[in-house]
Amino acid sequence: MAAITEDAIRELAAFKGEEAPVTTCYLDVDGRRFVRHQDYEHQLDLMMRVAREKANGSESVARDLRRIDEFVRGGIDRSSTRGVAIFACSAHDLWEVVSLPVPVRNRIVVNSVPAVGQLESFVQDYDRFGVLLADKQRARLFVFELGELTDRSEVLDELPRDYDARGHKDQGAAREKHHVEELTSVHLRAAAKAAFELHQAAPFQHFTIGAPDAIAHELESYLHPYLKDRLCGRLGVAVGASLDDIRHAALDLEAEVDRRGEAAAVDRLRDAMGGGQRAVAGLEKVLRALHDHRVVELLVSSGYAQAGWHCRGCGALATVGRTCPVCNAEDMDHLDDVVEEAVEVALVQGTRVRICVGNADLDVLGRTGALLRY
Ligand SMILES: [Zn+2]
Repeated sequence: MAAITEDAIRELAAFKGEEAPVTTCYLDVDGRRFVRHQDYEHQLDLMMRVAREKANGSESVARDLRRIDEFVRGGIDRSSTRGVAIFACSAHDLWEVVSLPVPVRNRIVVNSVPAVGQLESFVQDYDRFGVLLADKQRARLFVFELGELTDRSEVLDELPRDYDARGHKDQGAAREKHHVEELTSVHLRAAAKAAFELHQAAPFQHFTIGAPDAIAHELESYLHPYLKDRLCGRLGVAVGASLDDIRHAALDLEAEVDRRGEAAAVDRLRDAMGGGQRAVAGLEKVLRALHDHRVVELLVSSGYAQAGWHCRGCGALATVGRTCPVCNAEDMDHLDDVVEEAVEVALVQGTRVRICVGNADLDVLGRTGALLRY
């Protein structure tokens, strides 16, 4: 499975199914919620049933759906994958599978172009992590983003050495010990400095270190204030750990940072609600705010789905039909999942969408809420 890049998304977005429509499938395979493979396969079955009805006899789409089904049933390595996006158009030989380190909203879309909205929002919102591993002698520096870990340790070597290691052979054990401590400090300072250089070249949203307890505090104390502000926890891996181990530790830390971010967003929502302004909660109110283009940030509980209605006249979404609550037209289409539609509308509007995993506070508020522009 390919990792996602902005170029790849641009290429996908430019694709047009001239001969036959494109089938897009987003599947949430998050092992935290779907423990067994059958659990997410069942979700795929439900979507497949609806999609087959909508395929409208297109042989190409039928083939796409079969291939997607076979691919998922062939097993997905979920060690670092929480969501999968599949783009298929048999008539044009298009078959692209993208694995994502975050969960996605389940969806199958059949359209003339690939539905890249979720991928786009993922790439736009994605945070860059700086990772510094050190012990008394060694240091390694990494950038972690889009689920990929890149070794940037060369930055450590590029720094000028400002300490000249002289011999202290004859000066006694105390002096020797002092000398070793001094060398360690110089080494840690250099590592902290290299990390900051990397941050200046392309800023991190979050920063983490992995170091033995004895030196972790000292290393943190040498960090530039910008990096201290971005510290998001420590990585429990040694400086000599394998790339794979470091990557998995970073993925776990990232999931934790995501959950904290979700909790903070729900707190902002509750505070704003308490203040009686610039926020709404509950599906109907959220749908109305979206229609009015007032939403800055949309929060939705992961897995929340709800049947609803779409107005052909004014485009409004609603929980109750068939008379449109906005324009009063009696011309609404029934939707199996109006929440999904709302997420898509928000993405098209360029609104930030946060899918909150296991956030009980948001569930209490009606499983969806929105922070508003005015
Ligand atoms: Zn309407």
